Amino acid sequence: MKNISILGSTGSIGCNTLEVVDKLPQRFRVTGLAAGRNFELFCHQVKRFSPQIVSLERLDDAKRFEQICDTENIRVVFGPEGAEEVARFEESDIVVSSITGIDGLKPTLAAVQSGKKVALANKESMVVAGPLIQAEAAKSGAEIIPVDSEHSGIFQCLAKERTSEVKKVILTASGGPFFKTSAEEMRNKTVGEALSHPRWKMGDKVTIDSATLMNKGLELIEARWLFGLKPEQLAVLIHPQSIVHSLVEMRDGSVLAQLSQTDMKIPIQYALTYPERADSSLPSLDLGRIRSLEFYEVDETKFPLIALAQEALERGESYSVALNAANEVAVEAFLKEEIPFHVLSEVVTEAVDNHHDVYVETVDNIFEIDRVTRAHTRDLLEQR
Ligand code: MG
Repeated sequence: MKNISILGSTGSIGCNTLEVVDKLPQRFRVTGLAAGRNFELFCHQVKRFSPQIVSLERLDDAKRFEQICDTENIRVVFGPEGAEEVARFEESDIVVSSITGIDGLKPTLAAVQSGKKVALANKESMVVAGPLIQAEAAKSGAEIIPVDSEHSGIFQCLAKERTSEVKKVILTASGGPFFKTSAEEMRNKTVGEALSHPRWKMGDKVTIDSATLMNKGLELIEARWLFGLKPEQLAVLIHPQSIVHSLVEMRDGSVLAQLSQTDMKIPIQYALTYPERADSSLPSLDLGRIRSLEFYEVDETKFPLIALAQEALERGESYSVALNAANEVAVEAFLKEEIPFHVLSEVVTEAVDNHHDVYVETVDNIFEIDRVTRAHTRDLLEQR
């Protein structure tokens, strides 16, 4: 029996994780939950899974929770420190890190430093602090298993391979809702249109990132640090069916791939059961019915953020931090309908172009670059 803490339990990955755990009661028990502001769902999860420690984003919600629920056997904490406490909780063996954005960094680091097995869904933490997280994992013995479907695919392909024999890793991208939309039509796409992803049901931030293809840019950087690859070993292909989750070309010309249904429960379950596997409740992948798997090159004039991420990858770590910060601010502005769709990519590009390389050594360095870039990006948005 393994004990699991979930950071970001009411989000898309959190809910899927609880569904996986629910189907494997003989293997997993939920010991910790950290949630944001979805109070009703959080209460429901606590009742259903009886964790020993819980955290809510706001103090008011934590107090309200203590008033309406029987919390005699539950430790209730709140805020960013609360999420970190859940991440470090002694009783937990596995920490599912699925808080969105750079907010997930400190809780992820807390889990890594505590030597947990970390099922990593928060890609931003690897993007902004990859080398730091890996160094901490080496010290504590923490194991990091990717949950992102592409990275789970690569991880599975490489399970019995040496990274030194990898020639190239190709991440696949569905292409998002605007793969077939012309650049001109794309300019003023609405929030609703950007949120209707053709293949994956995910949280708002990652869905908007999928519409600009920034998600794939972030995943390239994530892959670099997860697998210790060089920037030039990483590439992207559009694959609208989202069945092949990634491809790994070995030095002898063999190409390995991982295929599965488009359902996050598969990579989540693999991360939890690794190195073992467990039965899936999903139907088998029926390639006879799907019949064709297509692949296309990325149109970088339509999706400039992919090239920008590749550039950031080559220019140095602080560029990845700036890229992520500018993107988080611009995505938020777009979701609030403050800017049209095309401005999102433009502002992120401008903010990264204006960034000057800074040496990154500590978490404080990262948060300082993040703070400065956010302020600068907000200025750029105001000038629009
Ligand atoms: Mg992904």
